[in-house]
Amino acid sequence: MGMSRDNRDFDTLKIHAGYSAAEHNNAVSVPIYQTTAFALGDTHRADRLFAFEGADPIYTRLSNPTVDVLEKRVAALHGAKGAIGLASGMAAVSYALLNAAGNGGRVLTTARLYGGTVDSFSHVYPELGMGIDIVGKPDDLGEFEKGIRTDTKAVFVESLTNPFATIPDIERLAEIAHARGIPLIVDNTAATPYLLNPFDYGADIVVYSATKALSGHGNVIAGLVVDSGKFDWGNGNFPHFERPLWFLRDSNDVERNILQVFPDLPFVGRLRAVHLNYLGAALGPFDAYLVLLGIETLSERVQKQVANTLAVLEYLEKSEHVSWVRHPAAHGSPYAALAGKYFPKGAGSILSFGFKGTDGQKRKFLESVEIFGYQANIGDARSLIINSAQTTHVELTNEQREQTGLSPDTIRLSLGLESASDLIGDLDQAFRKVFSE
Ligand SMILES: *Cc1c(COP(=O)(O)O)cnc(C)c1O
Repeated sequence: MGMSRDNRDFDTLKIHAGYSAAEHNNAVSVPIYQTTAFALGDTHRADRLFAFEGADPIYTRLSNPTVDVLEKRVAALHGAKGAIGLASGMAAVSYALLNAAGNGGRVLTTARLYGGTVDSFSHVYPELGMGIDIVGKPDDLGEFEKGIRTDTKAVFVESLTNPFATIPDIERLAEIAHARGIPLIVDNTAATPYLLNPFDYGADIVVYSATKALSGHGNVIAGLVVDSGKFDWGNGNFPHFERPLWFLRDSNDVERNILQVFPDLPFVGRLRAVHLNYLGAALGPFDAYLVLLGIETLSERVQKQVANTLAVLEYLEKSEHVSWVRHPAAHGSPYAALAGKYFPKGAGSILSFGFKGTDGQKRKFLESVEIFGYQANIGDARSLIINSAQTTHVELTNEQREQTGLSPDTIRLSLGLESASDLIGDLDQAFRKVFSE
């Protein structure tokens, strides 16, 4: 597999893993295989491909060589066994959860999640027959222990949350889940694999919205599901992995189950054969190429974003117009110890603060910034600002608002790659515009 040797460093893997130019007409940059289908060759080769033998592509909804390089590269960045590219982060979250618990099971999680995920938990999953249980106090590990029922099939958390950059104790949560024979699934979108590899702490499945910092340029919608390959899906808790299926029959028409057809990677195999194949949120080759391009500079971008975050944090903590600042590096943050353990390179580029003023003044502030972009996104090369409670998290119930501490004065920043002093200058001129007139 060319340069993708597992013992190379992260920064080498992010440029080379999963790709060998010799296998692609010596093209140095990963080619975009913009094709729907792949020639089957002779009829015997077709028989084998349609019996899930060999990894050669048939049809781009199921697999594509450009997407395949992205999957291998992202797996290598995690030291993981496999990954699967999907059309969006929402597809990654929903397919991963459906794959684990879609068989009438339940997922144990918290309200500290991406707004779209929380909404889907309230409105969509119950309709699909999947139960969602939300722990009221997510920092209390005992609540997770108590919350796992006999039909709970997974624990799901975000490793670094938006807007308050809270951090769960992944290692302990993995122990709690494993003691009950279920996996820990981690949404690592805001952290990126550069800042945190959840598999180092026992996570079993990691999902991404690659739309955000992973691709990092605000120009693509994409998702990924990454599989450590270590969880035992044949432990008796996942009968849907053990049931023989007609569409998995071999060339002699003998029905097989997921564990038989995909013995090395049953989770990714089932997700591809069932959810990607039949629900269809496939990642396009051009979009996979954009994510690959973004990943080439992941470390350099995230380092700069973390440095900008710390500079803006220091400015905001001194501002008379700010009532509180939340980030693990903020003064007195209750997440300082967890950040020390899980985020030694910095706890990301999302930062929020309380705006001290009226609603009208807050609106004027948001409309007065000139560099910060007012839009619903994070992890972009551009710095972004938003009033989360009124926008990205507007559908949270009052109870969920209380659980997450999302007050109406919250302003969330996502720091990009501009000059730190220009960013601070931008916030400063916006405060002055609001409070000196
Ligand atoms: C944006 C986001 C998602 C959804 O991703 P899309 O690519 O927009 O579908 C899921 N989880 C987190 C943490 C996100 O920030």
